[in-house]
Amino acid sequence: MTKLETHDMNRGAFNRIAMTLGLSAAVCPLVALGLPESAMAAAPVMQTPLRLFNPHTNEKYDIQLFQGSQWNRMGILSCDWMMRDWRENQTVQCDRKLYAALYVIQRKYGVVSPISVNSGFRSEKTNAMLRGRSIERNGGASWETPAVNSQHCKARAVDFKVPGVEPRTVAAFVESLQLGGTGNYPTFTHMDTGSIRRWGPKP
Ligand SMILES: [Zn+2]
Repeated sequence: MTKLETHDMNRGAFNRIAMTLGLSAAVCPLVALGLPESAMAAAPVMQTPLRLFNPHTNEKYDIQLFQGSQWNRMGILSCDWMMRDWRENQTVQCDRKLYAALYVIQRKYGVVSPISVNSGFRSEKTNAMLRGRSIERNGGASWETPAVNSQHCKARAVDFKVPGVEPRTVAAFVESLQLGGTGNYPTFTHMDTGSIRRWGPKP
């Protein structure tokens, strides 16, 4: 992992995560995903780091997600850190399929700037707060309102933005991956590894 900016990762927290998270036996991540061949074709150069940016904490990292054809344990931990609930300071092990899919997406669009991770794992408390805020803002729940039983709370979802690419274009690609859920929002794309479904306008 290459540190790009001066914002210090909390090393103590990071080391605790590294100690407490067990990572299962390594498998070739992209093959294990069962992604369509079109997506696989976009992904073979696995030495390229995954570039992520958290707009809330202003952290920006180049993450070496793979070592050869295997997962890189430190890379996974770095992604988990970037996906943490920063409001509640909670870091959990997220579904790594999300990371491999972000990698595939980065390769697909050949982006130079980091992918912006707007929301990853959410504690129940954070999700309820965001849900309440959305309902208040819109005068009721809508398709854009965070669900009570959000995949974000299960560490199986990410809201993200690919710089320079329309969110609906990204949503169409995410849907084609058939990884799980796709949310086509005006300013970002939701991707999760739950059941296959879509909400928001057809991308
Ligand atoms: Zn979401």
